[in-house]
Amino acid sequence: MAEPFPLEPSLWAATAPPAPPTPPLAERVSTDVCIVGAGYCGLSTALHLAERGIKSVVLEAKEPGFGGSGRNGGQVIPGLKFDPDELLAMFGPERGTRLVDFVSRTADVVWELIDKHKMNVPNTRNGWIQSAFSTKAMPALEARAAQWQRLGAPVEVLDKAATERHVGSDQYAGAWLDRRGGVVQPLAYARELARTAIGAGVAVHGKTLATKLERTGDKWIVSTAGGASVTADRVVLATNGYTGDLWPRLRQTIIAANSFQIATRPLSDNVRKSILPGGQANSDSRRIGLYYRLDHTGRFLLGGRGRMGEPTHPHDWRHLQAMTEKMFPQLKGVEVEFRWGGRVALTRDHLPHLHEPAPGLLIDIGCMGRGVALQSAMGRAFAEYIATGDAAALPLPPTPVKPLPVHGLNELYLAAFINWYRLLDRLDAARAA
Ligand SMILES: Cc1cc2nc3c(=O)[nH]c(=O)nc-3n(C[C@H](O)[C@H](O)[C@H](O)COP(=O)(O)OP(=O)(O)OC[C@H]3O[C@@H](n4cnc5c(N)ncnc54)[C@H](O)[C@@H]3O)c2cc1C
Repeated sequence: MAEPFPLEPSLWAATAPPAPPTPPLAERVSTDVCIVGAGYCGLSTALHLAERGIKSVVLEAKEPGFGGSGRNGGQVIPGLKFDPDELLAMFGPERGTRLVDFVSRTADVVWELIDKHKMNVPNTRNGWIQSAFSTKAMPALEARAAQWQRLGAPVEVLDKAATERHVGSDQYAGAWLDRRGGVVQPLAYARELARTAIGAGVAVHGKTLATKLERTGDKWIVSTAGGASVTADRVVLATNGYTGDLWPRLRQTIIAANSFQIATRPLSDNVRKSILPGGQANSDSRRIGLYYRLDHTGRFLLGGRGRMGEPTHPHDWRHLQAMTEKMFPQLKGVEVEFRWGGRVALTRDHLPHLHEPAPGLLIDIGCMGRGVALQSAMGRAFAEYIATGDAAALPLPPTPVKPLPVHGLNELYLAAFINWYRLLDRLDAARAA
């Protein structure tokens, strides 16, 4: 697997509080649970286990938040890609209802953690907007909002004029606003989760690549590149879009697609007030969607799909800058100060996957680019499952590890699909104009 794009060029690395010390693992240790991956899922699992008196060691190849958790758009989005009625139809009334209840509360978990542990995380909870780029997309958004309203969620539909007021762009036919959501500085949140977990007694080891998983008797031994190892009753793999070859064929169950982002230099007060003045984030409903917001320093940041390989040249972000200027002409000529990207784990059925392929081994992979809220809540669910053994604690049933057929070709298909979807989006936009 190619070396991932570094974290440092990101806006978040430039504006986060310092990382807590996470020295590499240097010896053989024993613990209750060994967690591989220090993103939201791994760290939330560790913290919630510690609160239940269960010891864990977290192994992280680079540093906490190095993966998607330190690079994302910081949009805290409740819900999965599927609407409540779809989830009920897919999973039946009992499991479906539990799943809908779980996803409806994922954003709450983020703010419960931030508040309870007084985390130093710039954040705003004024809601998340999903806007319709064409009138064709409105019925689906209205149905989504109606389903959540029926369940008592604080959501509303915005007509074209209200959307323009909320977003500051006249490009949309309408939107829905979900007041459960909001924004965080994502790397600050990952680092504060790590700091809090360490404070609760968790051993977090950075620069420690797990290289081998072995089952010996009723224990797991996790070996690392530096020669140290962890012996544990259980292992949690929380490596998501950064999954390597630690567990056979796991990497082939997802497509690790790149999402790229740009951030401008801080905007003047006037311009700042003209974009998303309510402090929300916006993800638009296009097939190849864009997501954007302002951050706590007054910068505008926007993300969207990028090329399949790692970016190498500012040209690789050019399309995002063009979209920015099209939607917000007031940003024409404003310098782009940061360009970065990261890997999003896509699954074929658009659902996150849980696996339990051997006794005591729990895997979470594939959050379809929506993991800030989901993975925070997933960690809490994992801790409950490990502590109680109650399978109902898991929001989704564990499934077999099933690689995508001809995995390498899937990446080519995805690249082709992205181009095709972009074309359809352009045609929709042209028809709507
Ligand atoms: C550019 C971008 C924008 C996004 N925007 C949003 C957004 O706005 N809102 C939203 O909800 N979601 C967003 N996402 C998705 C979200 O960031 C992820 O779903 C989430 O962070 C995944 O968290 P995680 O803990 O599962 O995995 P990650 O945070 O990816 O952590 C996995 C970790 O495992 C480590 N690792 C891998 N292999 C090993 C090994 N063998 N040994 C040790 N460590 C290992 C990696 O170094 C990595 O740190 C975005 C993602 C990207 C990339």
